Amino acid sequence: MENKYELYFEGGGEMGALIRSYDWASGDLGHPNTWSLNLLNTISIMLNSRFPMFLWWGPQLIQFYNDAYRPSLGNSSKHPRALGQRGADCWKETWPTIKPLIDQILIGDGSTWNEDQLIPIYRNGRLEDAYWTFSYSRVLDACGKTGGVLVICTETTKKVNAFNELLQAKSELEFAIAAAELGTWDLNPATNHFTCNERLKSWFGLPANSELPLSRATEVIAETDRQRVTDAISGAMAFESGGRYDIEYTILNPELQEPRLVKAKGQALFNEQQEVKRFSGTLQDVTGERNAMQELKDTNRKLEMALEQSRLSKTAAQLGTFDLDLVNGTMEWDERCRMLFGITHQDSVSYSHDFLTGLHPEDRDRVSKVIENLYNKSVSKGDYDIEYRTIGAADGKLRWIRAIGKVFFNTEDVAVRFIGSVLDITDRKLEELRKDDFISIVSHELKTPLTTLSAMIQLLKLKLESDTEALIPGGIDKAYRQIKKMNVLINSFLDVARFQSGKMDMNRNHFYISELVKEMVDQVVFTANGTHSIDISLCEDILVYADREKIGSVLLNILSNATKFSTQGSSIEIRCYKEGDEVKISVRDEGYGISPADQERLFEKFYRVRNKFTTNTSGFGIGLYLCRQVMDDHNGRIQVESIEGKGSTFLLALPKATIPTISYGAN
Ligand code: ADP
Repeated sequence: MENKYELYFEGGGEMGALIRSYDWASGDLGHPNTWSLNLLNTISIMLNSRFPMFLWWGPQLIQFYNDAYRPSLGNSSKHPRALGQRGADCWKETWPTIKPLIDQILIGDGSTWNEDQLIPIYRNGRLEDAYWTFSYSRVLDACGKTGGVLVICTETTKKVNAFNELLQAKSELEFAIAAAELGTWDLNPATNHFTCNERLKSWFGLPANSELPLSRATEVIAETDRQRVTDAISGAMAFESGGRYDIEYTILNPELQEPRLVKAKGQALFNEQQEVKRFSGTLQDVTGERNAMQELKDTNRKLEMALEQSRLSKTAAQLGTFDLDLVNGTMEWDERCRMLFGITHQDSVSYSHDFLTGLHPEDRDRVSKVIENLYNKSVSKGDYDIEYRTIGAADGKLRWIRAIGKVFFNTEDVAVRFIGSVLDITDRKLEELRKDDFISIVSHELKTPLTTLSAMIQLLKLKLESDTEALIPGGIDKAYRQIKKMNVLINSFLDVARFQSGKMDMNRNHFYISELVKEMVDQVVFTANGTHSIDISLCEDILVYADREKIGSVLLNILSNATKFSTQGSSIEIRCYKEGDEVKISVRDEGYGISPADQERLFEKFYRVRNKFTTNTSGFGIGLYLCRQVMDDHNGRIQVESIEGKGSTFLLALPKATIPTISYGAN
């Protein structure tokens, strides 16, 4: 055959074709006809092998490679140029790594073996990290000398990358286990021994041994849970269960003895014979979580109960609610609140349209002033408690309402929200009005004959002053005292009616409080017939601007209560002094005292304390009510402090008088 080499170039896929068509004659190796049989044989083996192979031949290290090797050159320009190229020209970037290996073979130092070695190569347009397992071996030439170096190799980049990924995943898993504070365990079903991480060992109080019998773990489980856990383990190891294991139980570390609630999760793995091969999983300490959950549940339950209670009491009390968002200027009324304003529509409601216009015209100014003041943090604490009338928008019905609420302020003391409830008090109010009317009528009827009687007695007294028989003037004195008492009583009934109808006139003047105190003390001494020692030495001369008669009646009321509700002969001390912007008058007695519950209601109309000390004293429970009305009208206050069995102190406070235009002397 003329071209004997052709036989050796047969087959070999793409590389076979390239080798055949290559113009070898113009290169270093010359025409293939001149090539040694050893070279041709090696090329033939290479072309017909599915293993990646590469050959450097001759002093210039001319290159050959097969189809299996070809992918290692990537899609870059290396292929097909690498065929027939000189090694040093082809592998510029890795020549310092490769050349020593080649030299090792050329000098006859034996074959090389490298596993998973990183030899980056330039392919696919960039320098890529590639890993190789390869062996360099020599190929003899016709003279029995080393003619070339054959590389049989396999690229292991994928394997190495996969392994690295696995390592990465393992370290991430370990990190996650540590971060999640998980215990891990792995049971060998064949031996029923298990291994676990340090954390799990410390929870169970286990020794450092690498493998332990399962019983060492189960005996640490709380007795009440133990059977349940062993059942769950054997259940998971049965093929039918799917191998899933998920359970919560308590462990009692034998040393610490403090219970730890853990959540165990695991998975058993089975072989084809459905036998369990491995059973492993994790353990999580859920003690804190469970306690927090329990607390949350308890709080939730309490909250639900409170809400239910408030809902029930709201319904029982028939309370309506209102909620004003003062920032956005919106207002919400519940069904009941709408009903109390006689509103039947379901549209949104507004303060000016529905609330103000819903009020009785006579109450509108008063109520809106109170609300205006509520929003002003410098004059109010935001507490709202008021009675007013509404005229039903749809039904025109008059209703009496009591409204209680609170205004909330932001950190800049700006009112942001106003919420509260409304209650229908029409029945009670009408009843009260009827009572007041009745009292008013009775008082008026009594007043006229009493005035006549009083005048007649005074006349008689004058006439009889010269009488030698002491009995008669004494008797007349007594009668006169009783008439005075009755007069005071009837006047106070009339005052109730006047306050109620808003017809109480104020008649303010400047006067010295000490003088008024003295007058009232004299009156009390006269009516109570000097049964108590009353000390007014600490009452300063202070000028006030008020309705003298009304403040007088307040003082009289408090003083006579002090005598009424204390034992004969005990002391009463009155002090008058200035404090801040106020003039204060305190009346302290050594009487029976008032319980805290009664103190709260003392200033309500018709409120009387019911106990053994009050059963024999007369009264209607309107005195202190009137006192409060008078003090309120003066922008003042009335307060009580009392200790049962020790005595009470009533405190009146009036705003300090501004300097009058007419001088009343030193103050
Ligand atoms: P009353 O006309 O019944 O005295 P008040 O409104 O003046 O009505 O007083 C209401 C109740 O307060 C009294 O019934 C009495 O029980 C109690 N009270 C008032 N002042 C005193 C006091 N100084 N000491 C003890 N209890 C008092």
